[in-house]
Amino acid sequence: MNEPVLTLADLADWNRPGTHLAVLGHPIKHSISPPMHNAALAELAKEDEAFADWKYHRFEVHPDDLPKALEQLFAAGFLGVNLTVPHKIIAFDRVARVSPAARPIGAVNTLVRQPDGWHGHNTDGHGLSASLREDLEAELAGADVLLLGAGGAARGAAVECLQRGVRSLRIANRTAANRDALVAQVRALAENISVIGVDPADSSQLPPGLLVINATSAGLKPDDAQPIDLMIMPGPRAVYDMIYNPAETRLLAQARSLGIPAANGLGMLVHQGARSLQHWIEAATGRADVRVPVNVMRTAAELALAAH
Ligand code: NDP
Repeated sequence: MNEPVLTLADLADWNRPGTHLAVLGHPIKHSISPPMHNAALAELAKEDEAFADWKYHRFEVHPDDLPKALEQLFAAGFLGVNLTVPHKIIAFDRVARVSPAARPIGAVNTLVRQPDGWHGHNTDGHGLSASLREDLEAELAGADVLLLGAGGAARGAAVECLQRGVRSLRIANRTAANRDALVAQVRALAENISVIGVDPADSSQLPPGLLVINATSAGLKPDDAQPIDLMIMPGPRAVYDMIYNPAETRLLAQARSLGIPAANGLGMLVHQGARSLQHWIEAATGRADVRVPVNVMRTAAELALAAH
């Protein structure tokens, strides 16, 4: 399954039959969402032929063209849209409504067609907590979390930590000013949860038993330095790296060598996608009981990554 890369020109006279979904990105070439979602739709169609004409496409869209793309997709009758880098933040101000849970994140990754326009949701946080549970048997509720990073993914993860009721949240980042800005934003939402900016090189700021979540891009390239040296940490409980390509970053390799439970971000990608699909199915059918085949999505995602 190798879905063609579509552009806005393909929307101009869109009259393909069926129910259409899409992911928009810039660049979009490496997204594994299309094979993952189309595998899920094929599986759902085995049980219910209503899904047989559902199709998930990928569109290369420049950020300047995003507003036009969203209008055209709506006019063409698309049921739903996923947004990836750099569209999640731009779309936030461009939709008819943002779900209450997504508002503090300031970014949306899932748009659902409604009569008054696109409604925006953010399923990344669900993806993170579902993957922590499935891959590390870790719950955010009551956890002491060390979050690495201060970009979009870190902000979403921080809001999820608050919404799930962590006991404490420490945030570290390469650029201290960005860390401090995120700490201030998160504290304003935190009510009774302690939110602390820390220096990842200072072990005195890192108590034992921390759940470490890497939300930096450090590790995407093979020669990237690790965002933290686990050797200086007194007994972290587990390490989660949102990066899934490569499958094992230096951080994860070090965790494994030290015997610390560790997982990459593929499960997060799969679960955010599954939750998006659930939103679309519910909007189209009114049914909340349709079980999205998460395992099929994970297998398809693994195969697509292996093929890259
Ligand atoms: P942003 O560009 O918004 O933020 C990047 C963050 O990484 C910043 O905190 C930046 O620090 C830090 N950083 C970048 N390079 C380095 C480096 N060499 N060393 C240390 N820190 C570094 O990116 P996102 O927040 O959107 O994404 C972050 C990561 O999360 C990406 O790897 C992305 O693939 C992954 N991700 C995974 C998802 C999943 O489903 N598994 C979903 C979303 C994201 P500074 O402030 O100093 O610049």
